[in-house]
Amino acid sequence: MNGYSPEIGGIFVFRGSLAAREEHSLPIWGYAGLGRHHDVIEVFRGNWALLCGDGIAPHVGRACYPGTGILPCMTASSLSLAADKTLLRQLMAIDTTSGQPSDPALKVIAEKLQAAGCEVHRLEGAADGRGNLIAIAGPVGLEGGLTLSGHIDTVPAGEGWSSDPRTLIERDGRWYGRGSCDMTGFVAMATNLLAEAASLQRPLALVLTADEELGSIGAGALVDQAAKLPPLPKSCIVGEPTSLRIVRLHKGHLKFTITVSGATGHTGTPVSGVNAIDGLRHALNSIEAERSRLEELRTKESAAFFRVPFPVLAPVRLSAGCAWNVIPSEASVDIGLRVLPDQCASDVLDDIRTALAAAMQGWPLAWSLEIYNDNPPMCTQRGAEIDVACRALVGQDQDIGVSYCSDGGHLTKLGLECVLFGPGDIAVAHRPDEFVPIEDMVQARGYLKRIISARCGGNS
Ligand SMILES: [Zn+2]
Repeated sequence: MNGYSPEIGGIFVFRGSLAAREEHSLPIWGYAGLGRHHDVIEVFRGNWALLCGDGIAPHVGRACYPGTGILPCMTASSLSLAADKTLLRQLMAIDTTSGQPSDPALKVIAEKLQAAGCEVHRLEGAADGRGNLIAIAGPVGLEGGLTLSGHIDTVPAGEGWSSDPRTLIERDGRWYGRGSCDMTGFVAMATNLLAEAASLQRPLALVLTADEELGSIGAGALVDQAAKLPPLPKSCIVGEPTSLRIVRLHKGHLKFTITVSGATGHTGTPVSGVNAIDGLRHALNSIEAERSRLEELRTKESAAFFRVPFPVLAPVRLSAGCAWNVIPSEASVDIGLRVLPDQCASDVLDDIRTALAAAMQGWPLAWSLEIYNDNPPMCTQRGAEIDVACRALVGQDQDIGVSYCSDGGHLTKLGLECVLFGPGDIAVAHRPDEFVPIEDMVQARGYLKRIISARCGGNS
């Protein structure tokens, strides 16, 4: 059947091109790709038009063209999925690489949430233009409710993509593009969930941070501004890509640099200087010994870390010297320390420092150990309200800890109890051809709607 069915909000199938949008006067408030053989769904005020192929212009609500017809009315979930895709596409097109301004993407989100009646706070981050955002739907400040959290930044697009990393491509049941999985897909969904929420009895908050991929720098800024923040529901879901598993633990990541001073001179006459690399060798031997010691260590939470149940100490970058014939006057190594969630990073670092001091005792010149950044571990107790609620939701009994970091550690410092839970697999994050399975997005949305409904009431 061809035609227009306003009662059921029917879908028009036109043979038309995207450029044809310009030829009609109805305002378009969004669009999203859907379906295997159709590129784009155009969303007009209350009406849906599915455009497929190229050719003549569509005239919305007026006519159909040969070979087209009305599809079954869209279900609420497919409409929501289309809205998530629309926003993800929009956000993905903005360069949100860590260190770049987060404001353009946050502006899109803020405007959408303000229009939906949410309370929106734009907050300063580590630098100009790299702020964070907190939005709240429903009654602010009441007990209970739920906080959703995500980072707005992504790692650099990098090389090796099959398609433009800033253009959302749908292929084989997946949405491809930088951030689709880690974690703009979740950010788009969470934003829409707030915008859609109605008649909430308890608050539903959204915390979006900048520069997570640089070591949760934006979340750290939130901790620094704790006194200025609006009240946030204590139970929090951080939407990192966990393949829809509930993760209540992650390690911390403390980054530090050891620098050893030498004295420059001509390499032909070694006694004319002091080679800093010799000193760094002592330091690296000490780090190696500490690494072996830590690999034997187990804590109560080790069991949740199946593959790497111990703290990790990893030298990652060396620098020294300037020429073949010049004795290096300085040598340094950058090291990452990933402590278990129930360890105190500063205690572990004190041990490392003590061992290092012993190893460097005979070194005639200066050396130093300086912390670059400390991303705290996330250690939500088994049995915490959010842990229990999320486990019940997905039917998971197993404890899972992960070795990557999130904003969850800093959010814990704000008094929140966090679990990680989100669509997509961390294994495809930070790589070319990053993608999120559409089925994960559908399921995540279903789970989140249920938990919002249970914790905040109203219609989400
Ligand atoms: Zn992430």
